Amino acid sequence: MKHPYLTDDHEIFRKSLRKFLEKEAYPFYEQWEEDRMIPRSFWTKMGEQGYLCPDIDEQYGGSEVDWGFAVVINEELERVGSGLVGVGLHNDIVVPYITAFGTEEQKKRWLPKCTTGEIITAIAMTEPGTGSDLANIQTTAILDGDHYILNGQKTFITNGIQSDLIVVACKTDPKANPKHKGVSLLVVERDTPGFSRGRKLNKVGLHCQDTAELIFEDCRVPKENLLGEEGKGFLYLMEKLQQERLLVAIAAQTASEVMLKQTIEYVKSREAFGKPVSKFQNTQFKIVEMATEIEMSRAFLDQLIAEHIEGKDVVTKVSMAKWKLTDSARKIAAECMQLHGGYGYMEEYEIARRFRDIPVASIYAGTNEIMKTIIAKNLGL
Ligand SMILES: Cc1cc2nc3c(=O)[nH]c(=O)nc-3n(C[C@H](O)[C@H](O)[C@H](O)COP(=O)(O)OP(=O)(O)OC[C@H]3O[C@@H](n4cnc5c(N)ncnc54)[C@H](O)[C@@H]3O)c2cc1C
Repeated sequence: MKHPYLTDDHEIFRKSLRKFLEKEAYPFYEQWEEDRMIPRSFWTKMGEQGYLCPDIDEQYGGSEVDWGFAVVINEELERVGSGLVGVGLHNDIVVPYITAFGTEEQKKRWLPKCTTGEIITAIAMTEPGTGSDLANIQTTAILDGDHYILNGQKTFITNGIQSDLIVVACKTDPKANPKHKGVSLLVVERDTPGFSRGRKLNKVGLHCQDTAELIFEDCRVPKENLLGEEGKGFLYLMEKLQQERLLVAIAAQTASEVMLKQTIEYVKSREAFGKPVSKFQNTQFKIVEMATEIEMSRAFLDQLIAEHIEGKDVVTKVSMAKWKLTDSARKIAAECMQLHGGYGYMEEYEIARRFRDIPVASIYAGTNEIMKTIIAKNLGL
């Protein structure tokens, strides 16, 4: 199906990106899963080809392309595997904070290296004691002369080990009332004194994705690394979380499409009781149900992406897409695994990996329960 917001240019771009990934990612993905890490060389190769942050201004190293290209990049990365989510996070979640709220000096300092892969970025909101309740973070940043003194701990941070630049949500006014008014965003650079990395976390899935703890102990962050204005961090997060949630929905939809395609191929080739598994009515009905769900979700998602590109307020619809598409991808993974029989439980079949990887999409970028609270509020409940 042709997406309404994509032109021939986007499809030509998709072809060359897919060719690049067939050479540089697909053959190595299993090894990266074993290594529990994607090598930096993959990032710099992506950068050389213009696949990192292509939407940013030319003066900072970008190509000023529209967000349709971001959709293509994220879909193609997800087709390789969900473990590449850190690249999308860099391109379309963290760097946009700098382009939207950074000063000219900050943009010149950081953005060009974000496009080459010399700088890998991360965003650190979640703490051991709080995730969903973001206004309740305990990390503090207290001004002392020309520096903020940052203290606290973050966890579950994507790109945590490899990151060179981390946007940290912290309290510059821990006593603010309401609490969210005390939140600011500080950019912490790799070698900042007092900043260290904790454990690289051992996850159920997304094995090649780098997820880690970050520790700040009297970490001295120069005043000029404040992003935007003090006390506005929470508003910035609420604004940018919409695109983050949309990306998660896009990834979930792509994963569902991939899983269905693979399962159709499998049930046509596998025989039981003298005929292909695809000829059993149960198989057909399950496949039909999934195909219908996927097709309908695609229509909703495409419309939503188009509205996001137009700059419309999509908060309610993004929250709907995020919970519904990730929830349905999780169910589709389980159905597809079942239709693979015992082979579906074997690591050499991709469905096994997809089954492990997909559940986290219901959790990160705001849990599906939090999405429902947002929708309920916007419905006036
Ligand atoms: C692989 C991975 C990568 C991640 N990457 C990042 C990252 O890069 N940066 C970052 O900052 N964070 C990241 N996270 C953290 C993620 O965003 C949080 O885990 C998530 O927001 C949930 O927070 P929590 O884990 O503290 O759960 P909690 O907030 O403790 O929630 C526990 C349960 O309670 C439910 N709950 C909480 N509040 C409500 C409510 N009001 N109503 C109904 N139910 C509620 C939740 O839905 C959930 O089911 C990542 C997490 C994972 C697993």
